Amino acid sequence: MTLRSIRMFGDPVLMTRAEEITEFDESLAVLVADMLETMDDSGGVGLAANQIGLTRRVFVYDCSATEGGQRGHVINPVWEAVGEETQTGTEGCLSIPDISKDTTRFKTVSLSGQDIHGNPISLVASGLMARCIQHETDHLDGVLFLKRLAPELRKEAMREIRNSTWFNI
Ligand SMILES: [Zn+2]
Repeated sequence: MTLRSIRMFGDPVLMTRAEEITEFDESLAVLVADMLETMDDSGGVGLAANQIGLTRRVFVYDCSATEGGQRGHVINPVWEAVGEETQTGTEGCLSIPDISKDTTRFKTVSLSGQDIHGNPISLVASGLMARCIQHETDHLDGVLFLKRLAPELRKEAMREIRNSTWFNI
């Protein structure tokens, strides 16, 4: 397995919609293994392919430290809200280091997609795992969590980004 380098805010690949995956070959299995390793190494709970510079619709996640959370991957994810209830809590992103803000997401979602063999996956998740699914699928659509913030918090986040050392290298 290989650690992949994580793309930072400002990289156009993070604003690009990723494309559906149609080939379920060995290189996809290697990619998922590398993404899991890279996520673990960075201490994240999720990682989307855009974040390592690839516009392919796959993300990995590890919410196993929370109740009902799991670890895994999903190819070509599609989610929908289960009920109207939302949750507001701290959210961050490996591509936007040191910035975390209260973000509102649906509380419960149902996720469908495929595994590395092309077999269908479907699950229902709440809490952190539901938040992760929404955040990572956004990445695959070229959307960062900054877009989901209340205007004041977004301004605050942008100011913090402009003043951060990682953004000014
Ligand atoms: Zn992220």
